[in-house]
Amino acid sequence: MNHLICYHYIHTWTVFGSNMTSTETTNGRQEVAHDSKVAPGVYRFGTNRVNWYVVEAGGELIVIDAGLPNHWEQLLDGLNGLGYSPENIAALVLTHGHGDHIGFANQLQKTANVPVLVHTADVALVDGDGEENMLELVRNLWRPAVIRLLIEFSRSGGIPSPLESVESFAAGTDLELSATLRVIHVPGHSTGSCALYLPDRNVLFCGDALATVDLKTGNTRGPQIMSMFNDNREQALESLDRLGSLGEVTLLPGHGDPWRGEMQEAIQLARSE
Ligand SMILES: [Zn+2]
Ligand SMILES: [Zn+2]
Repeated sequence: MNHLICYHYIHTWTVFGSNMTSTETTNGRQEVAHDSKVAPGVYRFGTNRVNWYVVEAGGELIVIDAGLPNHWEQLLDGLNGLGYSPENIAALVLTHGHGDHIGFANQLQKTANVPVLVHTADVALVDGDGEENMLELVRNLWRPAVIRLLIEFSRSGGIPSPLESVESFAAGTDLELSATLRVIHVPGHSTGSCALYLPDRNVLFCGDALATVDLKTGNTRGPQIMSMFNDNREQALESLDRLGSLGEVTLLPGHGDPWRGEMQEAIQLARSE
């Protein structure tokens, strides 16, 4: 399914959703569910369903993922609260190229010329040349959790604008920004999915390689492979071996609450479904 057809579905749900009772609003500020510190110098933003993070290091900031387009206001508010401006952002690093992770990337690039980094294999998803497989989403439109998700997507700006320029990194790279981010390539959810490890704080931004909420069912049982949106679920499960030696971590997923514990336990939980 191409973006145009997907947009049609989102637009349909926008119209439908406007007649539904919901606590969610079109205003990014009012959608803020979390702006709390989740690890030293690490802040969680977004909503109940979609997370992105800001890392403070060496007087600069690194943003991990970019949520949905209307989260831009949240970013400005968040930076203001922390005493920074967009010019203080050293880089936006994407865990992968799906639309719910690149929301305000274009805006940030235009406003402050912030470099956007993504794994080589997901560049096409980010610069507008690739297509996301939305078939599963359409097949599951009868599920309440999926309806809520679509309403949120549509009210938060819908499809993000593609990026004009993007810098790519390869597997096994250490991104030497104001803090070191170790790139661990964990393909399966998407070909270029990466977990980003912040060794000085034992924090793992796992993107959608692991989630703590299932966007299809609403299940919040702990670290799990999402049951929707994966390019290759078997590969996603196999890739978890690459995270097994990290020990005790604060696991910060793209979707769901933080989880703290041994990475081996997280992997065991994800494989126990
Ligand atoms: Zn994803
Ligand atoms: Zn996602």
